[in-house]
Amino acid sequence: MRVYVDIDSCEGCGMCVSLCEEVFCLAPDGRAGSKMFNVPQDSEGDCFLAVQFCPRHCIRIRDIRKSKGNGIQNFEL
Ligand code: SF4
Repeated sequence: MRVYVDIDSCEGCGMCVSLCEEVFCLAPDGRAGSKMFNVPQDSEGDCFLAVQFCPRHCIRIRDIRKSKGNGIQNFEL
């Protein structure tokens, strides 16, 4: 599973870091980013929570394991 943050939409609330500090961090400019491109399997549950509770809905995840054709499939939450 891969994760991206749309930093243009991020308000820097820190919710994602609180829910999944293994994957997310706040940059010096106050916006969130992911520490890694590929999310470890044991952090996927917390990463889903971060997606669900992000007030700006600016976290995107993709499941590369379910890939068919073009290799990428988006989760719909
Ligand atoms: S929860 Fe969303 S808005 Fe808040 S810091 Fe994380 S990515 Fe930004």
